[in-house]
Formats: sequence, C-alpha cells, structure tokens
Amino acid sequence: MSRKILIIMPRWSEKSLWGVMGIRFPYLSLTTLAALTPPDMEVRIIDENVEAIDFDSRPDLVGISLLTPLAPRGYEIADQFRLRGVPVVVGGVHATMMPEEAEEHADAVVIGEGEILWPEVVADFIQGGLKRYYLTDRRAPLNALPLPRRDLLRQGAYLFQNTLQTTRGCPNDCDFCSVTTFYGNTYRFRPVAEVLREIGGLKGNLLFFVDDNIIGSRAYARELFEGLKPLKKRWVSQATLNISREKELLTLARDSGCLGLFVGFESLTQEILNDLGKPFYRVAQYETAIRRLHDHGIGIQGSFIFGNDHDPPDVFSRVVRFCDQNRLEAVLFSLLTPFPGTRIFHQLLKENRILHFDWEKYDMNHVVFRPRGMEPAALEKGFFEAYKKVYSSTSLLKRLIQSGKSLFLFGPMNLSMRRAWK
Ligand code: SF4
Repeated sequence: MSRKILIIMPRWSEKSLWGVMGIRFPYLSLTTLAALTPPDMEVRIIDENVEAIDFDSRPDLVGISLLTPLAPRGYEIADQFRLRGVPVVVGGVHATMMPEEAEEHADAVVIGEGEILWPEVVADFIQGGLKRYYLTDRRAPLNALPLPRRDLLRQGAYLFQNTLQTTRGCPNDCDFCSVTTFYGNTYRFRPVAEVLREIGGLKGNLLFFVDDNIIGSRAYARELFEGLKPLKKRWVSQATLNISREKELLTLARDSGCLGLFVGFESLTQEILNDLGKPFYRVAQYETAIRRLHDHGIGIQGSFIFGNDHDPPDVFSRVVRFCDQNRLEAVLFSLLTPFPGTRIFHQLLKENRILHFDWEKYDMNHVVFRPRGMEPAALEKGFFEAYKKVYSSTSLLKRLIQSGKSLFLFGPMNLSMRRAWK
C-alpha cells in the first residue's frame, strides 16, 4: 500500500491583513516539495488559507512549511497530528532560523533549502529512521527541477494558478530582509530554456514570477524576456527600480507581457534608505523612475515601511500623497518587522527594543518593537489610517484612473485590499 504524505501551509490569522484579503497566490514551496516526493507515494497538499485540514485523515507523514507569522498556527497543526500518532516534519525560513523552537513541535526539522533535503527526509521516513535535524548550507541548483505539482492545488482558489521562480538569492542584503540569509548573496538562475518549456505547458495566460528581483542579472532577464515574447503571456513579478534606467530592458519587459512590478520603495527619506541597507536607491529619482515604468504600460505595486528610526512625524501623509500623485496602481504598507535571521532583528535585540516574540504578530501589520520617533500605539494608528486613506475611493480614483490594460489586475487587488482595511 502506498504511503500518504500531506504537505501543509498554515493559514494566516484573521487578525492579520493577509488573513482577510480575498486574493490568494499558491505557495510554490508546497507544489515543489510535492514534485520532489517519490511517485510511488500518495502526496496531497493543503494550503489552509483556501482549504480546511482534516486532522483525522490519517496521513503517514506530515510536512509543514513555516513562515514566521504562520509558525504558531503551524505548531498547533503539528501538535494535533502528533497527538494522533502522525510524525511531523517542519521546514521553511522560520524553522531554519529558529530550529530549537521548531523542534519542540516536530519529529524532524529541516534547516536550509527543501529541494536539497526533502528527498533525504522522505527516504529516511520510508526506512523508519527520521533524524531530528536535516541540515544543509548548500544552495539548491535550479536546473533540472521537477515541475511543480500544480495539479494538486485547489482549482479556482487563486488569482494566479501559475507561480514560477526563475532566480534565487540577492546580493543586496537589506537590513530587514531574510532573502540573503536564507537563499545566499549571489543570484542563482534556472536555465531559461527550462523556464520557457514549463510555461509552454501551463494553462492560462497569467504568470507570477515570485523572484525577489527578476532583473538581478540583466543578461538573464534579457534572455528570459526575449524568450517570453512569442509565448504571448502576461506576467507580474518583483524588481528593483534599476529597471527604469535601462530603456532596452524596460521595452523588452513590456513586449514580453509585463503588466506590473512589485517595487520596494521602502521610504521617502534618503537617510532611512541608507540605514536600511538600500543606499543604491535614490529618493530624488523615484518620480522619474515611476514615470518611465508607466510610459511603458507597466503598473506598480509600491511597498513602503513605517517605523524607521528617522521617520518624520508626517511620514504617513507624505507617503499617501506620494502614492496618489505618482499613481501607484497598488500599495503595500508594512510596519518594520525584525524577522529572525535579519540584521534588524539582531540590532533591535541588542538594543533591547523587541517587545515580544509573539510570532503571529510578526505579520508587518503589528508593532513588535519599540520605535524611536513615536509610541508603538501612535505608529500602529498612523499605519492603519494611512492604509485606509490609500484605499479610500478618492485615492483609488487618483491612482487607477490611467492604469490602462493593467486595470484588470490592479482593480481586483485594490478592491480586495480596500475590503481588508475597512
Ligand atoms: S529587500 Fe529586495 S533588494 Fe533587499 S535584500 Fe531583500 S530581496 Fe534583495
């Protein structure tokens, strides 16, 4: 009889913006681990954000992917299965950064990239000898990866069924970001031919490249965009604003179907960008950069962080005004959050400014450290009010009125955010 493996992404708390947002994206980690599971095993994935868990379904092994704000729920799930005698393996960024904590709720902890360690975990499980820890500091090569098991996703539950990754790692190492710690400080690439082959077999026209910076290597991005052109797909991804300086790349992105990019502006104060480890961004160039992307028909989801040590008192209204005036098609505000494994975590810990380790509140919507310029309550209030303003009807109208062909994407996104913040 084939053994049953269940791979789970825990749900977001309803107290978090992410828990009440209507729009969802499938987690590539689940479909990738499923693809790496031997074919003679029966594998299921459950994204608890779109589907409930049946704790009495009697899988033989459960794997849980842990992001920091989802860790408490992940531990509850693990405890429930273990109570029923089902062994549990946890992995992901949070388990890698906090392995001793994760171990209290699991039979095995995966520290490092799952692509390298999951096959070993499954092999040990089959032979009845799970180890307590699976550890690697090697980085998974991105060539010859099996195709993610999208067939296991709940159909119709996601805005984009097709999430893909072409690159991993980042050389920039911003203070608040764990990408470099987890994925390394150099870029790794999937061969473009493999990416295009995968895309050729996908249903649907929309793609979401979940890369942290799709233009990290200009040469790679150029090759990818050239290859995408004949496929006539539409896609979104994340990129640094550096793309705006390269006219040829921008044109290629547009011609290959780019509808929108997530851009981390973070702050409108240069000193803060320098402090955050992003001195390569120049606030003075933001408006020109945005205009260039818009001129190429590329919409922008702009991201800003509140709670920085040098935030001016009027930071909230300044940022909302900037978003309106520059017609950012979607906006994401975050409260500075010291995720384990980031430099800001160690700095705030040293300064004794971390208020608690209630991970559920490490969702970028709650103040979890003592800010410098204002009281925690004032920071949280300003943050909520800024969100309400930027998703008010007046702001929506200003930001979306000229969004053209990307409206079909940014329209629902804005409505979903607006509903979440009402
Ligand atoms: S925030 Fe973006 S640019 Fe900075 S380290 Fe993370 S992935 Fe790299």
